[in-house]
Amino acid sequence: MTSAIWFRNDLRVLDNPALISACKAEGNVYGFYFYTEDQFKQHGLGATKLRFILESVAALSEQLEQLNIPLIAVHCSDFDESIEKLLELCEKCSVKDVFANMEVELNESVRDKKAHKELSQRDITLSVRNGQTLLSPGQVLTEKEEPYKVFTAFKRQWLKRINDQSTKPLPAPKKRKKKPCKGTATTTLLSWQQTQPSNEHWTAGSSQAYDNLDQFIEQQIDLYKEKRDYPAIGATSQLSPYLAVGSISVRACIHNALIANQGQWDSGSQGIQTWLSELIWREFYKHLTALTPDLCKGVSMQPKTRHLPWSHDSKLLTRWQQGETGYPIVDAGMRQLNTLGWMHNRLRMVTAMFLTKHLFIDWRLGEAYFLEKLIDGDYSLNNGGWQWSASTGADAAPYFRIFNPTRQSERFDPDGEFIRQWVPELASIKDKSIHNPSAKQRKQTDYATPLVEHKTATEKTKQIFKEYSSGEPA
Ligand code: FAD
Repeated sequence: MTSAIWFRNDLRVLDNPALISACKAEGNVYGFYFYTEDQFKQHGLGATKLRFILESVAALSEQLEQLNIPLIAVHCSDFDESIEKLLELCEKCSVKDVFANMEVELNESVRDKKAHKELSQRDITLSVRNGQTLLSPGQVLTEKEEPYKVFTAFKRQWLKRINDQSTKPLPAPKKRKKKPCKGTATTTLLSWQQTQPSNEHWTAGSSQAYDNLDQFIEQQIDLYKEKRDYPAIGATSQLSPYLAVGSISVRACIHNALIANQGQWDSGSQGIQTWLSELIWREFYKHLTALTPDLCKGVSMQPKTRHLPWSHDSKLLTRWQQGETGYPIVDAGMRQLNTLGWMHNRLRMVTAMFLTKHLFIDWRLGEAYFLEKLIDGDYSLNNGGWQWSASTGADAAPYFRIFNPTRQSERFDPDGEFIRQWVPELASIKDKSIHNPSAKQRKQTDYATPLVEHKTATEKTKQIFKEYSSGEPA
């Protein structure tokens, strides 16, 4: 019997439940990948992420080659066309069973339902496994069988449930006896993104992801709790691009961290416990997205925030996007994003709060800009992060607790090192005034004047939230 694994955001051979299932039978196994370029663009993914996806597919293809599994990659426009191509390939390669790992987002799950129907009409099975989260969406529910909306309660229940589950990653499947045909060449894959040069800061593929994980656990994880909030230090794992395309599984990350902590979740190294908690935040947002389809339609999670009169001021939005707000730490974060395709978590919160609470611009515009620029763009986590910052989401920051960007800067970039790196016009300022340069310094360095004044802007935002949260907007 011939089987196929339909790869999507699970671009790995290690700890891949669908791949293991596809390899259980004796016959030929094919890998299929559909590069749905227009669909990805419609979903808002930008060139950096698209290039990273293709490089990750190329790296996967080489790994599969070692297992005698050819990866046949097809360029197509959207999900509907990917189903047509899937049917064609199944027929051509006499595939009777297709395996895939679940994707939690709405269009993806609609695609899978449609593919299931079309395949079954041709007597081909589609079996979907969970390779994206450790516990499957639906496994962690409240007593009323609803998704948790508060993280600490979710985490408590998640930890209870995980006790019954192994965190041990699945091995790579055994090498097949022979390879049925040739896969798609790397050059072909990369030619699909000809115009976009590779992002030199990120090397795609599982080997790099595992190297990063090992290095992080050996050298940095114990100090993660203390240092993770300081963007100049770079004390986080930077595994997000790999987790987003699935070059590494969250289970492998959790398992290796637990080994380093003698299997303990809630004692031992504080750094490891904190890091594990961040991975559980990831589970929280993925479960919420899977169980709350409205989140994929741009709806604010909290009903009372759905009618806030957000601004869509394009001039202010552009200044924020370009890192020209006049708040050095905000501008440094945005310029890091524009250059690396990645931003430090603390600054994602600071810049997102600035857009929504100082400029009162619709969080969906910021969400879209992040997704377009981020190499780790991940719908669920990005939406979760934006709705947290905008105080519209599940377990979000309360609307009245607004970060003061200058205080954040003094606290988390005390020497101004990060600002000097990313806002070079301020590099000559050596003292604390770098966090909020005087009018004279701004003139001398040709640095922007602040777009808004912190107190005035945030008081106005709080007032609007107060009016709308009471359910009776003025
Ligand atoms: P580490 O600190 O090493 O954490 C390890 C992993 O845990 C991360 O790779 C990620 O998978 C997960 N994680 C860490 N922090 C969070 C968090 N706050 N919420 C959920 N999961 C978390 N992350 C993305 O991967 N893609 C996104 O598109 C994305 N958009 C965001 C937008 C906003 C406004 C905010 C506030 C956060 C966003 N995050 C996103 C979450 C977080 O900022 C990144 O995961 C993190 O900065 C990635 O760096 P790291 O891999 O070094 O993280």
